[in-house]
Amino acid sequence: MSALAPALLFDLDDTILALSATAMPAWEALCRRWAPRLGLADPALLFGALRGANERYWRDAERRRRGGDVEHARRVIVAEAFRSLEIGDSAAAYEMADTFSRERISTIVALPGAIETLAALRARGRRMALVTNGLSRTQREKIERFSLAPYFDCIVVEEEIGAGKPSPRPFRHALAALGAAPSEAWMVGDNLAFDVAGAQQVGIHAIWHDVRGKGLPASSEVRPDRIITALPELLEAENER
Ligand SMILES: [Mg+2]
Repeated sequence: MSALAPALLFDLDDTILALSATAMPAWEALCRRWAPRLGLADPALLFGALRGANERYWRDAERRRRGGDVEHARRVIVAEAFRSLEIGDSAAAYEMADTFSRERISTIVALPGAIETLAALRARGRRMALVTNGLSRTQREKIERFSLAPYFDCIVVEEEIGAGKPSPRPFRHALAALGAAPSEAWMVGDNLAFDVAGAQQVGIHAIWHDVRGKGLPASSEVRPDRIITALPELLEAENER
């Protein structure tokens, strides 16, 4: 296995922080608090309705691709779940969605070994950038909560530069800040289209973080240069030098 490049670019959500895995448990916990308020004896009923509404909402591929305002999406999803349970209180639906949005960051955890890996790579003198899609307020709040800023020479947030992955702009922005050529850099991320294909398009080697550990889908047209299931594998690769 080849040695790692001197410059490393990292995605944030589901690469450093466990986002997908903590979402539904957080909704379930909120349903337990809210069911009595809505006169529902069984919180599982509310959670089931929410899960259904969530799946229907994100089934739209174009919507998934765009990403965008998740706080608005949560309001639409909870309102839809309430409708399916014949609860006509849309103000309560919005309040529940906004409560989730307010508390969401406190329910996120770091992926095992992720922050330790950043620290170790930093100690080895790697130049590092965080390249994350999303709103400035949300992404900065996560960076702050996990004290991630000291690990990076450069932090690129979609909203702050007006362009997100897979556009070449955030990648080029990070390379310029690190003073690295594309051939000297690796991008690590969980999203095949955004992180892997986006990086490869500008000539950066791309490591796919297979966060679910299910392997590359047979239907994938994107071919990562390397696949890892946990960030500490990056250190093993370095030790083989
Ligand atoms: Mg991600």
